[in-house]
Amino acid sequence: MSILSLFKGVRLPRSPEPPPPRPLSPPDKVIIPLRQHQGRVCEPVVEPGQEVLLGQVVGASEEFEAAAVHATVSGKVEAIAETYDPAGQRVPAVVIANDGRDAWVEAEGAPPTLSEVEVVQKTRPTRLLKRLREAGLVRSGLLGLPLHVDLSPPMAPRAYMFMTGIPVVRPIDTLIVKAVDHDPPVVTNQAALAEAGEELALGIAALARIAGARRVVIVLPAGVEPPGVAQLAARHEWETTHLDGRHFPYAVDNLLVKKLTGRVVPTPYGEPRDVGVVVEPLVTALDVGRVLSQGRPPVDRLFTVAGDVAQPQVFRVRMGTPIARVIEAAGGLPVEPGKVILGGPMMGYAHFDLDTPVTKETDGVVVQSAESVRTFQDQPCIHCGRCVAACPVGLVPTELGKLCEYGQFEDAAERDLLHCIECGCCAYVCPAQRPMVHLLRFGKSEVLARRMEQ
Ligand code: SF4
Ligand code: SF4
Repeated sequence: MSILSLFKGVRLPRSPEPPPPRPLSPPDKVIIPLRQHQGRVCEPVVEPGQEVLLGQVVGASEEFEAAAVHATVSGKVEAIAETYDPAGQRVPAVVIANDGRDAWVEAEGAPPTLSEVEVVQKTRPTRLLKRLREAGLVRSGLLGLPLHVDLSPPMAPRAYMFMTGIPVVRPIDTLIVKAVDHDPPVVTNQAALAEAGEELALGIAALARIAGARRVVIVLPAGVEPPGVAQLAARHEWETTHLDGRHFPYAVDNLLVKKLTGRVVPTPYGEPRDVGVVVEPLVTALDVGRVLSQGRPPVDRLFTVAGDVAQPQVFRVRMGTPIARVIEAAGGLPVEPGKVILGGPMMGYAHFDLDTPVTKETDGVVVQSAESVRTFQDQPCIHCGRCVAACPVGLVPTELGKLCEYGQFEDAAERDLLHCIECGCCAYVCPAQRPMVHLLRFGKSEVLARRMEQ
């Protein structure tokens, strides 16, 4: 199925240009989930009562599909307890009381830091990859993969190969770095442009070197022309292009790949790597550059607070900070709160526990007042066809929604349910306010669960 030939989507309101990111002081206590990515849970390597230093490993795993987690403050481990992750799943976590010293751990036998693009371009990819793995880097964005998995050689067994039996053989030739955000008003990648400099150049060069990409394309928001990025791009012969982030969901990886390279990612289990492309968010490229130039794992990240708060803002915040504290710094919840959504309003997850911490994969939170929440109704479809006109991957959401609602999951699968990218366009345009994404997510999880049992 061609994707962009059928591209439709919806047009969202323009997000205001973000002010420069503001640092937020570390909290008294951080909650470090032992899984902050799509993949395996780490084992705790510290115990309650133990003193830890900033950047010290507190959770690790031998499994390939896991990323180590580190202390984001120095202090004392209070407990190993459960918390919620951004998708609402229970996950074990290390709770650390902050001693306020920010005393860094001394890394024994650490390799020298890298500060020049030319050196990175000559360093063996496996060495670079090892450093990123030790730093526990994860691709920014909900359900992000550990970065070493995302960048691993194409012949590695991927989900696509697992489900289809087709080996992935195409080498990577293109790296796309996204400074656009796919779910406005979360504008974390756009805000990161304010920090673009030599560390960003290092990060992009390392990603291209590891992936083996000769072509690098930096995707900027329409109308935004940061001089620092233009200089970097000219110096290293990287391309820049612009994208109107209002045209949703153009910035979703598979659609972006089609737009920029003309290649169609095989769905439903494929990913850009399968057609020779790696896509990484700008904040991830910046993290890579910082890890290489500072020799330390990231302990903070950029995080957008948007929606019905007094001062929407992008913060640089310690990972493990409860979301409630970041919302408070942006002016707090509205008098009558309605919904708190991690990720963006179209593709994010509504949350019920504001003690959920900011993690490596969470790039923002959107607060909605009771007045602005769009409540879904238990209404029948009126067959207006708007969802069909909006679906960017050419599905018939009205039909799929009904099949999932009545438990006819295999029939839905035969009608390409698993091709749904959960973009929310069908729910956005539905005049009957049917809970389309809920129905489709439920149907997809049922189909996948049944296939795993077979
Ligand atoms: S959520 Fe799925 S079915 Fe609905 S518009 Fe997006 S891709 Fe199409
Ligand atoms: S937009 Fe809503 S009411 Fe219209 S066809 Fe789709 S599901 Fe039915």
